[in-house]
Amino acid sequence: TLAHPTSADLFEVHRTTSPVPDEERAAALAAPKFGTVFTEHMARISFTNASGWQDRRVEQYGPLQLDPATAVLHYAQEIFEGLKAYRHPDGSVWTFRPRDNAARFARSAQRLALPVLPEADFLGAIEALVRTDLAWVPSGEETSLYLRPFMYASESFLGVRPSLEAEFLVIASPVGPYFAGGVRPVAIWVDQEFHRAGAGGTGAAKCGGNYAASLLPQQNAHDKGFEQVCFLDASTNTMLEELGGMNVFLVGADGSVTTPPVSGSILEGVTRSSIIQLLVDAGHEVSERPLPLAEVRAGLADGSIAEVFACGTAAVITPIGRLAGDDFDLVVGDGDAGAVTTRIRAELTDIQYGRATDRHSWLHRL
Ligand code: PMP
Repeated sequence: TLAHPTSADLFEVHRTTSPVPDEERAAALAAPKFGTVFTEHMARISFTNASGWQDRRVEQYGPLQLDPATAVLHYAQEIFEGLKAYRHPDGSVWTFRPRDNAARFARSAQRLALPVLPEADFLGAIEALVRTDLAWVPSGEETSLYLRPFMYASESFLGVRPSLEAEFLVIASPVGPYFAGGVRPVAIWVDQEFHRAGAGGTGAAKCGGNYAASLLPQQNAHDKGFEQVCFLDASTNTMLEELGGMNVFLVGADGSVTTPPVSGSILEGVTRSSIIQLLVDAGHEVSERPLPLAEVRAGLADGSIAEVFACGTAAVITPIGRLAGDDFDLVVGDGDAGAVTTRIRAELTDIQYGRATDRHSWLHRL
């Protein structure tokens, strides 16, 4: 028996009758723009209150037909995940800590009053899909197959109460290096007007509504010439929380590292947890504690904060070169990627791509 059983073998696989020709797939895999190219199949499981999770299948990727009264379209009862499948030098394909994504998906489901999908089905759907679309896992440097599991309230009913039906799907998208032309520091706007989450809200869940709330501040920051927004806590408007889709870390000139705690309003990133572990392994002192913006501003001004970076599955680690808000505009270090940022990024990607020993057993073979 496997240490972590999956239901992959329970999936009925209905292969597409019009497969994409090899040359066409090769062209699509050559330089995919993030989230624009999808594989030929999708995995799917349906839920009803009466029968539970049923009808595990892999079918041709294609449009969903929705009744206009489908609950998700009105009340946003929806959750998702994001993880990647990596091809190793020997050709084998692996995911990174997928059980953490399964656990976070279960926590998100609970917060959104959706049915909890068993871990074996979360892993099983990914395995069944990636095995079917194995040829779509790219092999170039820093390429991967981005996996997007999601679940939505599928009952046609306009009453405001939890849906009695849900659909779970996994789709997959081959992705290239997040930064064409190498890792490059980004400029971050610290938003002092809008928040993405509040105490008791849904900030710790990966639900679509959180991202909808982040779009206007994100657009405003873009208009000012910044790439991403860093949000502050909604209660005091003084503590750094996270970016719209990434967690944030500070590296002191003395090598100590600080990141905001998992307080209920930020997402507990799998990349965040892995980086904390790698930093501790390397002898860094890591504190998870509330991080006042005032302290960050002072530390950047006097040089006691040497590096700032953001992290998440999509871009792994992104150095932050500039941090600005209504009444400040500060360069981080010399504006380039710092030494700790660069080293930890290499350590993590070496494990993910099978170039270094997986000493924490983070990889899961597909
Ligand atoms: N915070 C938010 C709001 C996110 O959407 C993500 C991406 N899932 C992260 C942090 C990073 O999480 P992970 O490392 O699991 O990708």
